[in-house]
Amino acid sequence: MAESSWRSDLARTITDVSGLPDCLDLTDDERRFFTAPETHGRLSLKVPPAVARRMADTDTPLRRQFIPTAAEFETLPYELADPLGEEHHSPLPRLIHRHPDRALLLVTDQCAVHCRYCFRSRFTDGSHGAISTEELSAVESYLAAHSGVRELILSGGDALMLGDGALADILDAARRARPGIVFRVATRMPVVMPLRVTTELTRLLRAHAPLWVVLQVNHPNELDAEASHALGALADAGLPVINQTVLLAGVNDDAEVLEELFTALVRLRVKPYYLFQGDLAPGTAHFRVNLERALGIVAELRRRLSGLAMPVFAVDIPGGAGKVPLEPSALVGEDENGYQLRADNGEMYHYPRE
Ligand SMILES: *Cc1c(COP(=O)(O)O)cnc(C)c1O
Ligand code: SF4
Repeated sequence: MAESSWRSDLARTITDVSGLPDCLDLTDDERRFFTAPETHGRLSLKVPPAVARRMADTDTPLRRQFIPTAAEFETLPYELADPLGEEHHSPLPRLIHRHPDRALLLVTDQCAVHCRYCFRSRFTDGSHGAISTEELSAVESYLAAHSGVRELILSGGDALMLGDGALADILDAARRARPGIVFRVATRMPVVMPLRVTTELTRLLRAHAPLWVVLQVNHPNELDAEASHALGALADAGLPVINQTVLLAGVNDDAEVLEELFTALVRLRVKPYYLFQGDLAPGTAHFRVNLERALGIVAELRRRLSGLAMPVFAVDIPGGAGKVPLEPSALVGEDENGYQLRADNGEMYHYPRE
């Protein structure tokens, strides 16, 4: 399939309230977003055709992710435009280098869909556009000078909003600078715009191995036949695929739903990698799950899921200290001979010190 088919899907993306499917009966809060003056300057409505088709049955989990509400107008004092403090770790425009061995490059500010809880809304759909030739050559020099960087994450925005040529230019430049570098391509497109996964694209990504595709899927309803087909094509092309899920109130803050999501991903040959506590982005309080309740859900998942299906639960520390994994600990005590461990069955067991 040619590039033109996903480009025409982009052209058919819903960006105006009048374009939403008729069967979606907007609530007062949803309608208020579109009519209130506070809407100005906020992340706009963007729903691609494949998502609109899935939303047609007034599906709450999809609707909450992609249809804005007036709740977005409420910003709490501790919500920050840059909740992860990325700007403090940015040696070059678009490059975030917080960990010595990994760097993250914001290759474009465009996405196929606008997620209402976006933690990078300060950048998304702004005035940056795609990375320029000058910016890319500065990144190439930076990578050449920083041999500690083993992985480069292409993010944004959505990395696959770039055309194949632009994507190849970035991958080639980074490989010239650092022949051994491992890529991660962060994208929602295989799921929200499955037509983006063309034979040309999978060949291009495969030709730049080692390259990992990093998805974001938050609810099993996103994995319809089209999306599943696209994920199958990535796996068939020999591309390792992992997924990051954001824990979102009213979308997936339920062990049952997440169990279904993670087992479905494993069946589609996608490894659940992270489950993130929501970041403190402006106007996202209505998506936040209390941290202790989140840990309860994680403990329940841990009992139900295999190691393969279970992601790492992590929180990005507000302000820029990075991600930390959080887990209900099985190490519950210590005595002179060793340690007390609590098994999944709730019983205590002993493990020796040496
Ligand atoms: C999340 C993140 C990474 C990748 O971290 P992993 O734990 O290796 O997935 C790298 N750089 C930045 C700035 C990040 O936010
Ligand atoms: S795809 Fe990512 S960057 Fe784009 S709106 Fe969604 S969360 Fe934000």
